[in-house]
Amino acid sequence: MKTSDDLGDLRGKRVLVRSDLNVPLDHSGETPVITDDGRVRASVPTIKKLLDAGGRVIVVAHLGRPKGTPEAKYSLQPVVGRLSELLGVPVAFATDTVGESAKATVEALEDGGVAVLENLRFNAGETSKDEAERGVFADQLASLADVFVSDGFGVVHRKQASVYDVAQRLPHAAGGLVLTEVEVLKKLTVEPERPYAVVLGGSKVSDKLGVIDNLLGKADRILIGGGMVFTFLKAKGYEVGKSLLEEDQLETVNGYLKRAEELGVEIVLPVDIVAAEAFSAEAEHGAVAADQIPADRLGLDIGPESGTLFASKLADAKTVFWNGPMGVFELAPYSDGTRAVAQALIDGDGFSVVGGGDSAAAVRTLGFDEQAFGHISTGGGASLEFLEGKTLPGIAVLES
Ligand code: ADP
Ligand code: MG
Repeated sequence: MKTSDDLGDLRGKRVLVRSDLNVPLDHSGETPVITDDGRVRASVPTIKKLLDAGGRVIVVAHLGRPKGTPEAKYSLQPVVGRLSELLGVPVAFATDTVGESAKATVEALEDGGVAVLENLRFNAGETSKDEAERGVFADQLASLADVFVSDGFGVVHRKQASVYDVAQRLPHAAGGLVLTEVEVLKKLTVEPERPYAVVLGGSKVSDKLGVIDNLLGKADRILIGGGMVFTFLKAKGYEVGKSLLEEDQLETVNGYLKRAEELGVEIVLPVDIVAAEAFSAEAEHGAVAADQIPADRLGLDIGPESGTLFASKLADAKTVFWNGPMGVFELAPYSDGTRAVAQALIDGDGFSVVGGGDSAAAVRTLGFDEQAFGHISTGGGASLEFLEGKTLPGIAVLES
């Protein structure tokens, strides 16, 4: 993949940068408030580098899921202020993406100046499945710039105008964030240092089947917790009460258990579960053996013995990939399993990668120092698809 250094002298050039500025906003007050600016912070180094090189930087991004037309609550305007603070320079803002405001804003840029254009997804062409419709929008975007830098790792698995099509229309390069993420993912898939342990949790087993499938051939141990574990426990013949269960995945999961055994991959399941009377922090709850979940309770976390067991399986790992909380960490009584895994990653001396939006949020809300982990990915979906062994269109186009 080319880097921005391969784009030549950027002075006088208009550099279109696809960033991921899709931050959560709290709209309850008078003005929207960014509740987690992680993605803005992650976007800053690439933008700064391009500005320092004298480029006229045009940042494009999406926010939320507008349906192809402008909607005030999805405006990128609130993000512009934060970006400006972090960059330490003024940031211009265009109130449309490829219209009169965008053209005038780009026209007014000087070398080393930066502007953000309004939400890409206010334009139906951005996410259209129709290549021609996407192409028209990509042409409009491309006409605003001389070169393109792809840095929105969170969207590189999407075949979208600003990710895929625009790269076919302009000299292009990968931004620093995309380069780092891809490098990390390669460490997890190409000759990972062993022992290699993978910890999977989160709500749905069906979201992560592809990853399990692909990593069964690569990892030495796969530890499973979270809501998805109950489909595994059920597959082993245990009763899981009112816990999350994906009945239709039982057969697939059974197949994985068999294949793991054949391949000599250790599947580590919890030995105890925190089972509660209801999905609530106030509900009666307690740890029970994993094969003794009462019919009227639901499992909301792995139990303390499982936390210890999981930590022991991570202690000597040289590579760890973790995706998905071990329990409903948002509710204090069910956060200990997730905390135990995060702590084990910090205590170990292997290379640890945290992927997944909720997992990254868990690490932060439980008060862990992000720097203590090898890498916290900014793109849950993108990193999962990479680990599934899929081709990511936004990466493939940069490699072409
Ligand atoms: P990520 O975003 O890290 O990939 P997911 O989106 O797959 O993670 O899952 C995160 C969600 O899973 C969290 O909101 C958490 O509350 C939920 N979860 C974890 N364990 C359970 C459980 N036992 N029952 C229900 N939900 C769970
Ligand atoms: Mg999630």
